[in-house]
Amino acid sequence: MALTQRRCPKCSTKVGWARLWLKPWIWARWPCQGCGAMLRFSLSRRLIVALGGILAMISGYAAGEYVRQQGFPLAVALIATVATVVVLGVLVLLLDGVKLA
Ligand SMILES: [Zn+2]
Repeated sequence: MALTQRRCPKCSTKVGWARLWLKPWIWARWPCQGCGAMLRFSLSRRLIVALGGILAMISGYAAGEYVRQQGFPLAVALIATVATVVVLGVLVLLLDGVKLA
């Protein structure tokens, strides 16, 4: 099983970034641009993404707290928190996958 499943399982056409990033509704159904097969997001992968998202937020909190305890100003700790959540969040979202509806 590939780590990323962001292509049509039938014809391997890439799913557009707008669908993946701007319209990631779990209930969405859409036709493949290449073969017209109906696609949807994988529920099991979405569960992994949700758990990973929670871990990303915990990691962000931990990173910010660590930076704060090192004596840096609160603003720096907040930046560390946001940066950690964004970077890990994007990586986690890459695990989202599509399958045939
Ligand atoms: Zn297709």
